[in-house]
Parts: sequence; structure tokens; C-alpha cells
Amino acid sequence: MHILIVEDEQKIAAFIRRGLMEQGFVVDVADNGEQGLEYALARKMDLIILDVLLPKRDGWSLVTELRNAGIQTPVLFLTARDSVPDRVKGFDLGADDYLTKPFHFSELLARVRSLLRRAPERRDETITVGDLQIDQRRHKVTRSGAALNLTPKEFSLLLFLASSPGDIVSRTEIVEHVWDINFDTGTNVVDVMMRRLRAKVDDPFEKKLIHTIRGVGYVLKAD
Ligand code: CA
Repeated sequence: MHILIVEDEQKIAAFIRRGLMEQGFVVDVADNGEQGLEYALARKMDLIILDVLLPKRDGWSLVTELRNAGIQTPVLFLTARDSVPDRVKGFDLGADDYLTKPFHFSELLARVRSLLRRAPERRDETITVGDLQIDQRRHKVTRSGAALNLTPKEFSLLLFLASSPGDIVSRTEIVEHVWDINFDTGTNVVDVMMRRLRAKVDDPFEKKLIHTIRGVGYVLKAD
């Protein structure tokens, strides 16, 4: 996963860069709007973290140019401006999310992950985790070549786990993404659904792919 940070405040850029690299992302930093646009046009980025007030070209103009060029890379605006009209302008121009400074890195990371999960370019791909293959377009799942017959809900749950293999996802994140956000999180529906999914994905096979991280959530990984 390749992330571009466009931010002229060096301390902030360095702080975000270090945090993202620790999470295994590949990170490029541009310290002005022109350079940011150049990088975004030249390289295939999975996400752009974009400051609004920048030398040479502001964030709004950058995202406008990018969208005009047909590039739909998700953009997370990062800015000290937090008034409602500014937010609306950002979304109108094609921003995907908005985070106001100062912020906690954990919140930035949560938004980065959420944006990467719903990035449109990734929808057509087949995801492979060990001997598990998920064909996103045709909703087909196989393990060691054998077709697994999942219900639509089980498929959504597996796809959500697989959208960032190796990352732990919490029950709350699962409820928000797989069910609707107003769903009563007090029930054990996630555990029940996870048990059903495991019965199909893991139980018939020696090597388990879905792991429980006690008190935190679940992770899908091959080793
Ligand atoms: Ca700035």
C-alpha cells in the first residue's frame, strides 16, 4: 500500500510518515502542492493525505486537478480549518474524508484503513490469503481449489477481514461495515456469524486462517 502525504509542516509530515511506515505502508512526502500533484499523477498511489493550505498550489486545487485527470485515488484532507463551509467545499471537490488538526495518530490510522477498504479500484481484484481465494466480482470463494458455499453475509464478513489481511479488525468495525451502523452491538451476532464462517473456511482444513485476538478482534492471515 502506497500513501502520499502532501504537507508543508515538516514536523507533522514526519510524524505521519513514521507512524504509517511502522504500520507497513510505503510513504512518499511532498512539501508543496505542485510537487504533490506531480507525484500523484506520476505514481499509482492508494491514498493521498492532503493538507489544504500549501505553498505553490493549495489542496483544493490539487484535488480538482487530480479528479479532472480522471484519477480517483481516495483523498483524506488534513487541515486546521474546521468550519462547515470548508468541509462542504472539500467534499464537493472530491475529498473522501476530512480530519482536523490537531489529531491523534490512531484516529488518522483508522480513517486511512477505512478509506483503503472502500477504495473503488480494488473491487475487481481477487484476494488471496494462503490457499484461500476470494473473487470479489463474482462473489466466489475457494480454498485449496474447492468452492466454499457462503451466504451473502458470510461473504461480506470474509471480504471485510480480507480487505486488509494481517490487520486486526474489532467487533465494532465488523458491525459497522458488515451490518449497518445502527445495529445493536450488544448482541453476540458477530461471534455467531464468525463461528459459521469458520465452519466453512477453516474447520475442513488443517491450517486455520481466521484467528481470534482475545479482547481485540479478529485477523485473517496465512501464517
Ligand atoms: Ca499547511
